[in-house]
Amino acid sequence: MTKRACYGRAVASELVPNLMLFRDDAAARAALEALRWPGGPRCPRCSAHRAEVFRIGGEKHSHREGLYQCKPCRRQFTVTVGTMFERSKVPLSAWLQIIHLENTKRFVPMTPWEMAQASGLEYKTVQKMRARIYAAVDTYDGPNTIFGRAITAYISTRRPKPPKLAKRRDGKVNLRRWYEWRGKHPLGEAIAAEGTLAGLDDMQVQNIESTEKLVRLLLRTPKPAPAPTVRKGGEARASRKRIASAANTSPFSKGWRC
Ligand SMILES: [Zn+2]
Repeated sequence: MTKRACYGRAVASELVPNLMLFRDDAAARAALEALRWPGGPRCPRCSAHRAEVFRIGGEKHSHREGLYQCKPCRRQFTVTVGTMFERSKVPLSAWLQIIHLENTKRFVPMTPWEMAQASGLEYKTVQKMRARIYAAVDTYDGPNTIFGRAITAYISTRRPKPPKLAKRRDGKVNLRRWYEWRGKHPLGEAIAAEGTLAGLDDMQVQNIESTEKLVRLLLRTPKPAPAPTVRKGGEARASRKRIASAANTSPFSKGWRC
């Protein structure tokens, strides 16, 4: 049986069930909420929680999924507000699936085309999602070895290279220069996995701890600023060129909207 969705072609996930992380969006949303709010939902604007926050639900289902209301500031929010997942039209289960596939420890990482095949998303959509993931990874300054192969390689290409190490007369490596270099380029805080994803039902997936660390990193990465609007007119062309050249600095510079 194939499902059809507005964001892509027929969902082929039934063909590769072992590649699916979550069966539906409700499970994916619950996992994200458990990762972002271990002590219950918290308002992203005024940090109100517990009794000051309540879930908007009911039989009508006229609201969107996972919606909460904050009593003090009277605003509504979901788990994606303020993160890089905000306002994405891609379902959360597909997001987590692509994140997991991108974070693989396989020697040969999956290509975007294979990910599109496995997830049922369009190739361009997968590329835009990866652009968001890697832009968020760009902001990370902790140890890079806690992630999968492709992301570890990406982080190490973006960082200053350590010095070449000389051997001492007794054959051991002289690490003095390395320690000096590390003092100039200190590492940030590492992200710890607390077993939230691994503790979920039916979660018999390899490398899930590493994926949890990556999702934690993505959840704490703020939503990117919207692209500046360009006015039509004489000086608009110059500023449009400036924006285009700024956007081309990233290897995945196709934009943020997906
Ligand atoms: Zn609030």
